[in-house]
Amino acid sequence: LLLAYEPAKRLAKLQVQMERAAVNAKMIYEILDMQTHQRDKAGAGELVVREAKIEFRNVNFAYTGSGPVLRNLSFVAEGGKTTALVGPSGAGKSTVITLVPRFYDPADGEILIDGQNIADVTKSSLRHHLAYVSQQPYLFEGTIRDNIRYGRPDATDSEIEDAARLANAHDFILSQPMGYDTPVGENGLTLSGGQRQRLSIARALVRNAPILLLDEATSALDTESEAAVQQALEAAMVGRTVIVIAHRLSTVIKADKIIVMQAGQVVEEGTHESLAQRPSGLYARLNNLQAVPSGRDTLQDL
Ligand code: ADP
Ligand code: MG
Repeated sequence: LLLAYEPAKRLAKLQVQMERAAVNAKMIYEILDMQTHQRDKAGAGELVVREAKIEFRNVNFAYTGSGPVLRNLSFVAEGGKTTALVGPSGAGKSTVITLVPRFYDPADGEILIDGQNIADVTKSSLRHHLAYVSQQPYLFEGTIRDNIRYGRPDATDSEIEDAARLANAHDFILSQPMGYDTPVGENGLTLSGGQRQRLSIARALVRNAPILLLDEATSALDTESEAAVQQALEAAMVGRTVIVIAHRLSTVIKADKIIVMQAGQVVEEGTHESLAQRPSGLYARLNNLQAVPSGRDTLQDL
């Protein structure tokens, strides 16, 4: 009984913290197990994941009071593959990602996972299969261990350390004054941008979910952190269905499929090779392929 009670208690503690924090939607997105106030559809079943293929079918979406943000958007993210979303700022890339855990629901159209409409399954079963790494990782008040455990409240200490190792975070954690028990967050130790990102990747990895939603950071890290974060992300992507909002050319080039978005629509899709062969296309312009200064690894924001 006690064993079953522990995770629930941790989650309850987290809920209280979340309510105290000025609730910023972006930080909640990382904590997919937060209870939602929205009820599931009557008779909603459990999501059954096989390949973890994600399909957007003619999705239209607007925020309350906003104009159309996604317009008849369709694409497929194949199971076990990496699909990169690219496009100018404001194109709707982050919005696409927030629809998958159902932080918002489309006005019309469907989002399917392995053929099941995500609107017809319980939110808890849907989110159980997802992990999310945001652009600006949020650290809660608490220890480093707690911060990783938010990915899965019933994770054991050894599962937390395994995730930290995979995320390239174990060594820097051990070098902190109290190791995994070092307090972080507003009143705790200040970690570098790269360290925060690696903790957020460890938090996602501890979920061991088949689907990874990844909003790649735009802010520049120092070269060493950059390499450590990149390695951690690559470890996290192995064997999963990944939708990545890509800002780095290197991520885009490695993706199995690239979806180019503009003003809420898919304007081009294909591999780097196929899209780069269309010099007048948006992808080629974002990439500025004619004049890539050596060493540059960010997509141009048109
Ligand atoms: P991207 O990630 O490609 O930069 P976003 O999905 O963040 O694009 O935004 C798409 C559009 O939706 C933009 O016009 C943006 O201003 C608007 N938008 C984003 N989030 C919200 C929100 N919470 N409420 C209202 N409008 C929003
Ligand atoms: Mg965005």
